[in-house]
Amino acid sequence: MLARFALSILALFASFSPGRLSAVEKDIFNYEAQRAAAPGTKRIVFIATRGTHGGRGNHEFLAGEIYLARRINAVYPNAYAVVYTDDKWPTDLSNADAIIVGLNHGGRAAMDPGIKAAAARGAGFMAIHFGVEVNKGEQGDNYLDWMGGYFETFWSVNPWWEADIRELGNHPVARGVKPFKVRDEWYYHMRFREGMKGVTPILTAVPPVSTVQFKDKPSDRGGNADVLKALQAGEPQHLAWASERPGGGRGFGFTGFHVFANMANDSFRSTLLNGVAWIARLEIPPDGVPSPTLTAAALNALMDEAHAPAKPTTTPAVPPNAPKPESKGLGHK
Ligand SMILES: [Zn+2]
Repeated sequence: MLARFALSILALFASFSPGRLSAVEKDIFNYEAQRAAAPGTKRIVFIATRGTHGGRGNHEFLAGEIYLARRINAVYPNAYAVVYTDDKWPTDLSNADAIIVGLNHGGRAAMDPGIKAAAARGAGFMAIHFGVEVNKGEQGDNYLDWMGGYFETFWSVNPWWEADIRELGNHPVARGVKPFKVRDEWYYHMRFREGMKGVTPILTAVPPVSTVQFKDKPSDRGGNADVLKALQAGEPQHLAWASERPGGGRGFGFTGFHVFANMANDSFRSTLLNGVAWIARLEIPPDGVPSPTLTAAALNALMDEAHAPAKPTTTPAVPPNAPKPESKGLGHK
């Protein structure tokens, strides 16, 4: 507790140093301000699918990323995180230090030239829930390179179950995370790099065999003979993992987050915050990135903000000299 308090005091003082922006000045939708931030600032870019998947509270990627970005901005004076939505996809990632996607399928991210270029120069990459799923082939190969693993249909599964997470990685992303039990649509049996090269599991549990569901022929997301065999052998499954590329770039994958209410769980939330900080090469305190427990009211306010009609940005999201995108009638859902 004292360490957390000391850290927030430190953050407060550090935020007054010249050239640094305080948390309140770091508007998560002001992309120009992020670009203009002091040299050495870690520039973190979140991309979220706008809207949900199955009603309020499900796949709240925008609400979740708004929270994560603001929290990182509040804790770290040397970081500036912004949030984009899939209908305003970032066109310039040339100075991004880390990119985090919460998308209803990660395919677009896996093929995005800006993300490819960012990863190639060492930027971190992280995907949450449905954002970890991409197609086998070029998309999957990119994810293996950037993040060490991905959800591959007919190999990975996406059941609902209460994961009893007792095994935590010995890694900075696991700092402050305690064993926890949470019901979510935890995907598992990810396609990982051969021999788990450069991959460190962060959250691990043993799913019940009943979570594999298929009859006769393999199902795209329900089950297949390989995953059934793994479960029957009692093989633990990794629900979150950190990875490093040979060139030094960092990746983090997190398969839960269907249920937004799970952000109220301290270890669930800390794992996500730590993941963002780690891929951006920010120092993670011994107890993890500090964050107060989220109340139901706070979660509701985040969802309300995410569901409100999009406001026009005060500054252009693209540099003035960039080619003008085709007009698509700018109506937002
Ligand atoms: Zn889901």
